[in-house]
This record gives sequence, structure tokens and C-alpha cells, in this order.
Amino acid sequence: MTTTQVHTLGYPRIGARRELKKAVEAYWKGELSRAELEQEGARLRKAHWQDQRDAGLDVVTVGDFAFYDQVLNASVLVGAVPPRFGKVNGRVDGNVDLDTYFRMARGRAPSGEPAAACEMTKYFDTNYHYLVPELYEGQTFRIASQRLFEEVAEAKSQGHPVKVALTGPITWLWLAKSKSEGLDRLSLLDGLVATYGEILARLAALGVEWVQLDEPALVQDLPGEWQRAFEVAYNKLQSAGVKLLVATYFGGLGDNLGLAVGLPVEGLHVDLVRAPQQLTALLDRLPSYKVLSLGVIDGRNIWRADLRQLASTLEEAKARLGERLWLAPSCSLLHVPVDLDNETRLDPELKRWLAFARQKLDEVVTLAHRIDGRETDIDRQRVADADRALAARRESRRIHKPQVAERLARVEAADTRRASAYTIRAAAQRERFKLPLFPTTTIGSFPQTQEIRAARRDFKRGELGLADYEARMREEIALVVERQEQLGLDVLVHGEAERNDMVEYFGEQLGGFAFTQNGWVQSYGSRCVKPPLIFGDVERPEAMTVRWSEYAQSLTDKPMKGMLTGPVTILQWSFVRDDQPRATTCRQIALALRDEVADLERAGIGIIQIDEPALREGLPLRQAEWQAYLDWAVECFQLSAAVVRDETQIHTHMCYAEFNDIIGAIAAMDADVITIETSRSDMELLDAFQDFGDSSKIGPNEIGPGVYDIHSPNVPEKAWMVNLMIKAAEKIPAERLWVNPDCGLKTRGWAEVEPALANMVEAARELRKNLSTICCASAKRR
Ligand code: GLN
Ligand code: ZN
Repeated sequence: MTTTQVHTLGYPRIGARRELKKAVEAYWKGELSRAELEQEGARLRKAHWQDQRDAGLDVVTVGDFAFYDQVLNASVLVGAVPPRFGKVNGRVDGNVDLDTYFRMARGRAPSGEPAAACEMTKYFDTNYHYLVPELYEGQTFRIASQRLFEEVAEAKSQGHPVKVALTGPITWLWLAKSKSEGLDRLSLLDGLVATYGEILARLAALGVEWVQLDEPALVQDLPGEWQRAFEVAYNKLQSAGVKLLVATYFGGLGDNLGLAVGLPVEGLHVDLVRAPQQLTALLDRLPSYKVLSLGVIDGRNIWRADLRQLASTLEEAKARLGERLWLAPSCSLLHVPVDLDNETRLDPELKRWLAFARQKLDEVVTLAHRIDGRETDIDRQRVADADRALAARRESRRIHKPQVAERLARVEAADTRRASAYTIRAAAQRERFKLPLFPTTTIGSFPQTQEIRAARRDFKRGELGLADYEARMREEIALVVERQEQLGLDVLVHGEAERNDMVEYFGEQLGGFAFTQNGWVQSYGSRCVKPPLIFGDVERPEAMTVRWSEYAQSLTDKPMKGMLTGPVTILQWSFVRDDQPRATTCRQIALALRDEVADLERAGIGIIQIDEPALREGLPLRQAEWQAYLDWAVECFQLSAAVVRDETQIHTHMCYAEFNDIIGAIAAMDADVITIETSRSDMELLDAFQDFGDSSKIGPNEIGPGVYDIHSPNVPEKAWMVNLMIKAAEKIPAERLWVNPDCGLKTRGWAEVEPALANMVEAARELRKNLSTICCASAKRR
């Protein structure tokens, strides 16, 4: 029997205890020297390579380590450093130094002049953020970092067989942004590929046999010239002296399958978790000289794999490919937590259903042994354990709650629609709230001060009793209500002091959710998140926010907004169960929130905001799948919201500016008011709303285009905000406009928030006074 090679596309670099985060942050603060930081990096790499060997992988992966981001590593490797960070060529050894690297990532570093950081955005459909490569007229490429080569030498000196992983040239270019007017990214292809060729030659000279080039762009809709770029690039790279494994993940190859199998490289990696159906076509069309690496263990989720079942689906592939079959997780394990063994407080039943990065390595190894017919006792034990755990999971009463399924089955179309159309509701709401034109409000949170955090920490540690903790939070609410009244805001919020995080807070109170102690996943740079696990049917045992909102409302005559996180956002920022469609889980969350909305209304809360900041990022990678997603996402929002009477006002909030793709869906959500981020785009995005409004009778209804950027510590001037709102009023009828910041204020300090809001309220007053002179869209249209 031939042996199946086992590898991983990448391993988490942060460390099981977030050691990398701590070291990097200490370096930024000047508490750790550069040499000490480098040492810690080397220590982590060594440990992670050892993990891979201990698990039984045939090679260790070198190149997945980064002090900030692997895409930034690639940018620096090819010398793509934007001019504002100084001339790289001028440096003594011609290499980009660590502080320049950090300045590109975050604008500043212990040494060097601060400069605007590179833009950061989500890597495909993950919650991992990469630094967007910038391209300029006259861009040239050359090897400008020795790190990758040094790491190869390092791994070799530790006695490991090495496979190198690197962002592929086309995906790097695909993720890049042209910063010079009229510069076509593809015009830089030749230069870029030449440098990649030199990199590969250097790796060959170091004795590297295989290089994995990550090309997830192949799972997206590619314009013809980009498909051709793949052929051009790989035709040139084939002679570089190493074997190339083109790695695709996060989806199926779809119409790029022929292109991918035909590239003149020695291997192809595909994601069989997201797209198992592509295996047959791959087996039929793969040239007989090529290795096929099958990504069979889910690199995006934390559930234990069904090893017995998986092994049987691999039989045909094994029979047809023999030695040419490799196995791996579906994508880099960067997207899952490091080690389940560190979860000592997770209850044992649930823990048995899970696998984190370290456990996923074991799973792939056992699978390979099983299909090769060389199972050891340990492998047999693992398969048997998985069998038992999965059987228990399928049956567990903690997961399956008949009443949840029954309720979902009873949902009717009418449950997802408000009783009356927006215009009728708006009239009832105007009558009820009597708000001025350009009403002012905020997005929900107020500064999370040291004292608030300390109180929560003490409460969690048991050093502060429940009654004392709640009293502290009530004090905080009273304070923010008073401050908002003094500022003269029209619609108040309670400030969200009692919330650690907008998803975790709700997850902790809902059935079907669990939380880890150390389940950290890198989000960007040194920032990690600990997503909740949604393991079972979601239920709301009791009201979650009502007592806080009720208390806050009791302190003021102004309307108090109830504040909830929407179903799509809760889903999107969690690890979601894989035993039913995501849409079903989302509907369950929506029903739980619907009950909360109804309870808030019953308690006299007249305005309820359901935040959906993650709605857009849930968009599938292929456009053909967008509509199906948007349909259920919108339906879930409505299921949460559409339980209220006409005179109860539903708000939603989204903090991003690219609306063109989803404008129809936003209108279909039919919220009475939507607050969005616009301040950084100079109200440009309102064009989408305006065009939409002209072409259709339904929503978007009222809009609060954020008038100031809460990410910046600067206090916005009144005149500036007035100006923005006048621009908004040119596009949207003034009677539909609200005035608010562009997101929550929890990361700011009161010293900035108070003057900023005071100016904002003044701006609204001025707008009202000068309404007749403001050229309004409504007036223009008439
Ligand atoms: N209500 C939340 C807050 O103000 C919204 C946060 C968000 O959109 N990310 O903090
Ligand atoms: Zn926001």
C-alpha cells in the first residue's frame, strides 16, 4: 500500500496562550527589545513545527508565521512598500526592517516616522484581516526581506522536512489595490512573477522541495484576464526548480476547475469541506503527473470530524491516486483556536465534540493511516472515540430541543412583515415621539471606562457580588442618561456598560451557546477574538436586556432605545454548528430575539435597535450564491423585528460603507431607521440610497448617515457636520434624516465624546434653523 502524505496549509501562530500577542505588544510599548521579540518568534515557530512533527505530519510548514500578517509578509518579501514609509532601497542591506513592517501595519513603531497605516480588510469570507497591498505607478519588485529564507534554514536546522507556504502571486495581486489613477494591477504581473521566480529559485537552492502557493482567488468569480494571468504566471514559474502546490480553499473551484487542474504545477490543493462535490470532477480531470491534496478536515470550524465516514469517502481517491494523494485540513488552521487541551473548564460532554488546530492535525494523520491500511492502536482508538462522540452529539438532548423546531415550523410569511407599510408606521411614530427634524441619537455604547471593566472583572472573579455589580451598572446608566440629557440628544441609549462584547453578551444568556477559556483566534495583528460556540438549538430562557432598558427609560422622558445584536451578526461572529444549515440556526436566533423585542415593547420601550454590522461580510464568495444568502439574512432580521406595533420604531445599524451590493436587501429589511457609516466617504454612499429610492417605492426608510468617525480621537467641528448633513439632504429628503456618530462610542473616552456630541447636537439645531435655506432633496424633487 502506498503512503498518503499529510501536511497543513498553515498553523495558528499566536500561541496557545496568545504569547505572540503579548510579545508583540510589549515590543511596541518598548518593554521588549527587538532581539527578545525575535527570540519569542523563533520559540513559537519551533514549538509549532514540533507540534506538526509530533502529530505525524510528513512536512512542517514554513512561511505561515508572521509578526502581524502573512499577506503583509508577502508584500514586504517582494518589496512592495508604499513610498510614504521611506525608501527601502536606501537601507543599508536593502531589506525592509521590522519597524517599517510594523509601521505599514499600524502607522507607527518604536522607531521611524509615523505614517498612515495600510488599509486592512477581511481575508475572503473570514474574520481574519489582512493588510491590503498598495500598488503605485512605476512599481517595481525585488526580494526585500530575508525572513522566509532564514525561517527555512531555522526549520532545517531543527531537523524538519520543510514545505514552504506563501501567498500566491495572482491572489496577492487580486487582493492589492492600485493607488495610482489608471494603473492596471495586471500590468505589474511580469515584474511580480519575475520576483516570485527568484524567490522560488532561492528556496530551491536551500533544498526546499515543495512550495505551496495560496491562490484562494480561484474560488471566486474571475474575469477572463485574471484567469489568463494564472496561466501566464504559472507557465513562467514552472521552471523555478521547486515543486509547486497551488492551494485553493474557502470554496469550490467551480468554473475555474479546468484552469486550476491545467496549471503546469506539480500539485493542487482543494477544499473538500466547503465543496465536497468537486472531488469526482477533479479525479476525472487531474493530469496523471499531479498530486491532489484534499482538504478534508474543517479549517474554519471547531467540530470533531467523522473519521470513519470521511475515510470511506476517500477510498476512490486513494485507489485512483495512490502516492499522489495528500491529505490536509481544508485551509490554514489560522482560523481555529490552538489547542482543546487547554480548555479545562469546558464541560466534558461538549468538549468531546470539538477539535482545535492541534487535534485537527491528529485527525488528518489518522485518516491517512486509515486509508493506507496502516492504522495503529492510537488511530483505532481515535476513530472509535470519534464514533462515540459523534453518536452522542447526534442524539444529545442538549442539542435537540423539539420545542425549538416546532416553533420554527410554525413561522409564517406574515411573521416576517410589519403589519403596515413604512409611511403608515412613520405617521404613527411621528405622532408618538414628536421628534424634531434631524433627530439626534447615538449608536448604543458609551465609553467603557477602566472602572466599568474593573467592575466586570471583579464580578467574574467572584470578588464583587451580583447585587453590587448590578448596582454599579445602574449607576453607570444613570450617569450616561444624565449626560445625554445635558447634551440635549433626542433619542437616548443606556450605554451598554453591562456588555463585554455585543455577541458574547447575548450568547451567554441564550441556550445552545458555549464559551471557551482560551479559544482565541487571530483577528488582525495582535488582536484576537474568542468566538462563542453555537452547539445546539437556540432558546431564550428569559429576558436579556429588558431590566436595563426599563431602568434607563425610568430616568428620562425622552425615548430610550432598546439595543440588541441582530441574528445574522450573532451567527457570523460565532463558530456555528455544522449539523444543520446556517440559515436554520440563524432563524432560531431570530426567534429568540423576536421574544426579546416583544418584551421590550411590552415594557414600554418605543424604539428598538437591532444591530447588523456583520450582514454584509456574510456574503458568499460567489455572486451566484448572494441572493440565497441575502434572502434568509433579511428574513431573519425581519423575524426578529416584525413583531412590534406600528408605533414602535425599529432601528438597525451597520458600520461600513459599501452598500451598493446589498442595497436591495437593506431596503427589504424595512427597518424604520438605519444608521450607517458614511463620514469617511463624504456621504458618497448615499448615492446608492438615492438611486434606489428613485427606482422603487419601498425603503430604505429613514437614514442616519454617521456624521463623525468614532475611530478617530479628533473632536469633529460643528460646521463640518452641518456640511455633511447638507450633502446628505441633497440626496435624501430632510424629513428622513437622522444625525448620529457612525458607530458605538465604547472605545472612546468621555473627554472626546462630550465635546463631539455637543457639537453634533449644535449641528442638528443649526440644520433645523436653516432648513428653508438647505437645498433639500424633497424640495428639489417637487
Ligand atoms: N450598539 C453597538 C455599539 O454601539 C454597535 C457596535 C457595532 O456596530 N459594531 O457598540
Ligand atoms: Zn457600528
